[in-house]
Amino acid sequence: MNNRIHLLDSFTSNKIAAGEVVDRPASVIKELVENAIDALATMIVIEVRDAGKEYIRISDNGSGIYSSDVEIAFERHATSKITQIEDLSSTLSLGFRGEALASIASVSQVELITKTEEAPAGIHLELHGGKVIFKKEIGCPTGTTVIVKNLFYNTPARFKFLRNNTSESSHIIDLVSKIALAHPDKGFKLINNNSIVFVTSGTNNIFHTITSIYGKELAKNMLTAHKAENNYFVEAYFSKTDMYRGNRQQQAVFVNGRLIKSKVVTEAIDEAYRTLLPINKFPICFLYLKIPPEEIDVNIHPAKTEIKFSNEKLIKSLLISTLKENLLQEKLIPEIKLTP
Ligand code: ADP
Ligand code: MG
Repeated sequence: MNNRIHLLDSFTSNKIAAGEVVDRPASVIKELVENAIDALATMIVIEVRDAGKEYIRISDNGSGIYSSDVEIAFERHATSKITQIEDLSSTLSLGFRGEALASIASVSQVELITKTEEAPAGIHLELHGGKVIFKKEIGCPTGTTVIVKNLFYNTPARFKFLRNNTSESSHIIDLVSKIALAHPDKGFKLINNNSIVFVTSGTNNIFHTITSIYGKELAKNMLTAHKAENNYFVEAYFSKTDMYRGNRQQQAVFVNGRLIKSKVVTEAIDEAYRTLLPINKFPICFLYLKIPPEEIDVNIHPAKTEIKFSNEKLIKSLLISTLKENLLQEKLIPEIKLTP
């Protein structure tokens, strides 16, 4: 090795940067589904084979990409969502860094099929390791399909870090479930190895969405309540005390439509159910919070979904009272029946 400094070529730097954005099939799916949502799709189909290691296909009926933009979409820092740093504070889109397509394409074989409303025909582009293999016109409906084949085929070290198919599949199913819960106004269909995992209707009914994803049996044992305090609003879907889980996988918090993580919220859930559940058991709980945006600090690092509330006390007391009042009432019913 000599000590001379040189710039990395774009294929190499994209491959390195890909580690930040895509570390497993579920993270590829997250990026592609978020792109579909940003493109205002109302129906999104996600198909995976071999836990996404061999094949991932995301189809949407969103805006599509202009034929002249399809190559640049795969360049790093190429985005239609912001132009200058000031736009960040006002952007409502899930993406804005322009890194996902470049990263994904650099470590897989990608096909893009896309058409805008106005375009007479669609475009079919294929890239291997980020290099364009072909581009041709194709007949297709308005919207975008991205197919990702053989993820990490050219980065064997990273491929080796993937877990077994059961584990990667369960990450995918959990992720798509939570995204579908965050967007009850959009239809999602998840297909795993040719069998349908779930289909949501996109009719903007959270209870129907929960039923479609987790089944009637679970939905039947859920309570719902909503409450407002100051400018904070919560809509909660949560399990009765006789249904619980051994982990927190069926808990999710959405703040202003985004799936987030928050220690304060987790503590509030635990507090509300304290003494009502056996130890080391967790309720099923989906919380939809609406909070003035200036009262939250969202960390904009792509991998971090942790958020900070400026008024943690208010959040906590609002959540605890919303859940607890209803849980205690629910508890009362059998007791009342028992008294002669
Ligand atoms: P970002 O989402 O941060 O802008 P991406 O690399 O994910 O960056 O995507 C680059 C660009 O490609 C997006 O800004 C968007 O213009 C376009 N794009 C990607 N996916 C889609 C899609 N499903 N529908 C429409 N446009 C898309
Ligand atoms: Mg994106």
